[in-house]
Amino acid sequence: MSIEKKRSGFGTRAIHAGQRPDPTTGAIMTPVFMTSTYVQEEPAKTKGYDYSRTCNPTRTALEGNLAGIEGGLHGLAFSSGMGAIHCLMSTLEPGHHVITCNDLYGGSYRLFTTLFEKFGIEFSFVDTTDLAQVEAAFQSNTRLVYLESPTNPLLRLSDLQAIADMSHSRSGVRVAVDNTFATPYLQTPLALGADIVIPSTTKYLGGHSDVVGGALILDDDDFCQDLRHYQNTVGSTPGPMDCFLVLRGIKTLHVRMDRHCESAEKIASWLEEHPKVAKVHYPGLASNPQNELCRKQMRRAGGMISLELEGGIEAGKAFAMNTRLFALAESLGGVESLLDHPASMTHAAIPREERIAAGLEDGLVRLSVGIESYDDLLADLEQALDTV
Ligand SMILES: *Cc1c(COP(=O)(O)O)cnc(C)c1O
Repeated sequence: MSIEKKRSGFGTRAIHAGQRPDPTTGAIMTPVFMTSTYVQEEPAKTKGYDYSRTCNPTRTALEGNLAGIEGGLHGLAFSSGMGAIHCLMSTLEPGHHVITCNDLYGGSYRLFTTLFEKFGIEFSFVDTTDLAQVEAAFQSNTRLVYLESPTNPLLRLSDLQAIADMSHSRSGVRVAVDNTFATPYLQTPLALGADIVIPSTTKYLGGHSDVVGGALILDDDDFCQDLRHYQNTVGSTPGPMDCFLVLRGIKTLHVRMDRHCESAEKIASWLEEHPKVAKVHYPGLASNPQNELCRKQMRRAGGMISLELEGGIEAGKAFAMNTRLFALAESLGGVESLLDHPASMTHAAIPREERIAAGLEDGLVRLSVGIESYDDLLADLEQALDTV
């Protein structure tokens, strides 16, 4: 299975990894096993399933698929991205130290600072785009380096291979990468040396804005057993319908991502030339300071763009209010285009001084470029920019 998985191309794995026709009916699609429990032949003699918090056949199919697309041996599915991150952090102990990014996804920041710091886990929030800062942050009790690349909403990249090498030169340090923005089609952190990959499947993997989910993918058998213990103990597991929706979404991930990237690349270049646009954050632009790193570790730069307008916050808000196709909403990665004003929406919980210090200006607007017709997306941005 693992050899076959590593040999075939991404599209083949997205459609077939972890999947087999239903043995009783031949149904080609994995059935949605809406059951909480399973009849046993005699006490403790099961067909591999005893209770659906612990395991469910629809979830097994999804977990095999997630492992296949990330190129890992094991996949664990959760009821949300946060549930997956919580499970990973549960393996740490009081006194352990974690190095992480200073522009982390807001929910992860909240989980670390309001829950795990309380339990005696120490965090260093550093600029992980700067390898010297990462190197300087290691302590004797460091057990985890937790990265996001690209970050939300400034699309900053961290050199995953270099940080994995740096971490593994110490003993007992694991590297986890939140791969939500890139997806395994554009970037495979395990192949770059990371130990654990975390996607929020709510975003590109589900891809249709109709389900919330998350996952952990890894190679290490023993660590997988630990994670399974916490997954079952805490119970943040997805229901079978949610698993089915994510599985269905993943089958078209590569096709959707190609279109997300193609449109985002053209839009980013167009925005960069627009007189009302002050700055475009998109690692795929030749002018982006991390373009070389982007080429090194990503297939393409993805479907997310953020921009600042010449008119600052007023112009940013007017622009956000005046798009017609780009819907003003949180979240990202669905087929439909979305627009977010981070300072007042997704990142409002971060104190203003901290936000500005991290480079997140009041007027910043984030686009999740969907897969509608490119000409219509461009026309919408054009008319909205005319209004500011
Ligand atoms: C959305 C998101 C999460 C959290 O996932 P949920 O499914 O919303 O719990 C984590 N990391 C990143 C980068 C995200 O965009």
